[in-house]
Amino acid sequence: MGTTWTNSNLGYPRLGENREWKRALESFWAGRLDESEFLKEVKELRLSYLKKQQESGLELIPVGDFSLYDHILDTATMFGFIPERFTEDSNTVSLTTYFNMARGTAEAPACEMTKWFNTNYHYIVPEIGEITPVLTENKPLNAYKEAKNELNIDGKPVLTGPITFLKLSKGYSQDEFEKKLDQLLPLYVEVLSELKEAGASWVQIDEPSLVASLPKEDIHFVQKAYDTFAKEVPGLSVMLQTYFEAIDHYEEIVNLPVDGIGLDFVHGWEKNIASLEKHGFPTTKTLGVGLVDGRNIWRADLKEKEAALQKINQLAPEANKVIQPSCSLLHVPVTKKHETKLDSVLHDALSFADEKLTEIVTLSTMINGQADDKTVKENQQALQRFSENYRKQSADLTKQRESLPSERELSFAERKKYQDEKWNLPLLPTTTIGSFPQTKEVRVTRQQFRKGEKTAAEYQEFIQNKMKEWIDIQEDIGIDVLVHGEFERNDMVEFFGEKLNGFAFTSNGWVQSYGSRCVKPPVIYDDVTFDKPMTVAESQYAQSLTDKPVKGMLTGPVTILNWSFERDDISRKEVSYQIAVALSQEVQALEEAGIEMIQVDEPAVREGMPLKTEEWNDYLDWSVHAFRLATSNVKHSTQIHTHMCYSEFQDMIESIRALDADVISIETSRSHGELIESFETAVYEKGIGLGVYDIHSPRVPSVEEMKEMMERALRVLPASLFWINPDCGLKTRNTPETIDSLKNMVLAAKEIRKTQ
Ligand code: GLN
Ligand code: ZN
Repeated sequence: MGTTWTNSNLGYPRLGENREWKRALESFWAGRLDESEFLKEVKELRLSYLKKQQESGLELIPVGDFSLYDHILDTATMFGFIPERFTEDSNTVSLTTYFNMARGTAEAPACEMTKWFNTNYHYIVPEIGEITPVLTENKPLNAYKEAKNELNIDGKPVLTGPITFLKLSKGYSQDEFEKKLDQLLPLYVEVLSELKEAGASWVQIDEPSLVASLPKEDIHFVQKAYDTFAKEVPGLSVMLQTYFEAIDHYEEIVNLPVDGIGLDFVHGWEKNIASLEKHGFPTTKTLGVGLVDGRNIWRADLKEKEAALQKINQLAPEANKVIQPSCSLLHVPVTKKHETKLDSVLHDALSFADEKLTEIVTLSTMINGQADDKTVKENQQALQRFSENYRKQSADLTKQRESLPSERELSFAERKKYQDEKWNLPLLPTTTIGSFPQTKEVRVTRQQFRKGEKTAAEYQEFIQNKMKEWIDIQEDIGIDVLVHGEFERNDMVEFFGEKLNGFAFTSNGWVQSYGSRCVKPPVIYDDVTFDKPMTVAESQYAQSLTDKPVKGMLTGPVTILNWSFERDDISRKEVSYQIAVALSQEVQALEEAGIEMIQVDEPAVREGMPLKTEEWNDYLDWSVHAFRLATSNVKHSTQIHTHMCYSEFQDMIESIRALDADVISIETSRSHGELIESFETAVYEKGIGLGVYDIHSPRVPSVEEMKEMMERALRVLPASLFWINPDCGLKTRNTPETIDSLKNMVLAAKEIRKTQ
């Protein structure tokens, strides 16, 4: 039997080339567009995206992947999971309710938001509770019909699968999983039947949860779901789509009664290939070959990809195959067309969503034997130019790294003596995490400076005045360890990226982070090296204004890596070590300038954890090593601080200890009890500040409340090691609430000190 190769896409960015989607949403929220104008505008956008995909030559175009906020929120509202605090008296879900769930109202707090697997996209967490699901609207059907009627596109409706949907939801216990699944399956059947009736040939059901160390006992649920679909909706072709990693339980999954299985052959290459080698692939099924990286912005090497396709062909010779991106293109910017400021060699090595679609189409012509030599040649030359110009890890760098210690000379207990003597701090010292309010004035002035409307001298004077204002405020409040306030920083990664070698910045490389919020990650394209001191001037100036210590403030290597588009030619570990070496030079420069209390923030370590639990240790090991490379080459008396956000630390206390920071501050106020519990069992014997109030809320916490937090923590942690601080940076808060909260915090600390 001859096999065919076709091509497809899994999802397209919502944002628009110039973030038109974001603007439409925000105009609607602000009341500048009414509902019908808004819906008209987003429809035009949606159709233009479909058209673009059609024009790129793509054969199977996804529909229903578009969203007005988030696809998981879409799924939740489609099945009527409207938490009671948002319910209205009707069976349809209004746009107001939809956005209220995402954004909250004065009375009802928004639904929780959390990270989508190991990406920087955030989804809205569905609240299942006691709600009996109902089908409020067949959204994929509407999307399918729209594409058909308006553009004559026979699209591929995309749905989030029931297993993934439930795994990502909260408000029910694991023993109720099957019951909840049983309630949902008939609704899925209804959606699928209507799609079949409307003429859909393929449906893509996304089940990324199948790659995230799915417990063996859960396979039974997957089987149940897909058996039901096969039985109840025969004749509809289901592509069970996975991404971000290789699937666990390969044999069971590929033998499910579906017509196609989509695998990630970029991020799950090795394991998926090994499974194919070991177990083959069912001859009657279609294999979705996710080969163009949907997570990164590098151009595909067409020759290399062609070889990969041939390899897959050998392993699954009889199956039909579809070439597709490794995951939805939601995670990359729209097009590189507008990147006119980049160096041309680098520009030629980039590929955003639109360029990736072209790559997919080209690859399918190549494998079908109709390759266009000119395209392939141009591709090879561009990549060759790129690797000749950049990305040669120099021997010097390796040498530099090898000569750098990754361990402090003395143990914590030994160096603490030097530090106690040098710093002479009170018991339960008070401090903050780094940033103070980034007011409108601060943001506007930075913009003016960037646009050339303010000179460097004027900008510097402005920043210095802000620092002075806040050094005075901190002194008045009576905080023990001060910070300069980070007024000169737009973003904790971009700030360093702009000053280190090896980073590039796009002008329009936006990706959706959550809702209408976008980020423009820096691109690490070359060896990262230190150029000149990045933070010394501000820290030194702030320190000159006070006798109290002012902490130097850096972003750690793993956070810089996790919030950037990284190189694809060397490992993440290698890149993080390069950043670490550069940061160690900054640490040195700070020390030389007399800044000997230095905080290296690593808020993104937890979120960068691999999807497969068996890979956690390796990741944590190199993350810890990178941190230590950056921070070990210091005097005994130099005090290294670090800060981490998020509260799920239970599974990484060992690593936190291994960082060997003298003081760590952790965000805990939202699940204080749990974290304290984990410290009950795991003794932690270095300096630690468990955030005593939640900075995410504008509420000013009372002295009593904070005292209670402190008392609870002091039951498990020795007072001699305990620090008092808010639980994250204060840049999003306004000035009066920041000052009032910090006053209360210092008062609470003083009262608790008396009891010790
Ligand atoms: N030092 C940073 C700040 O205070 C830390 C931010 C973070 O943890 N995300 O803003
Ligand atoms: Zn934080």
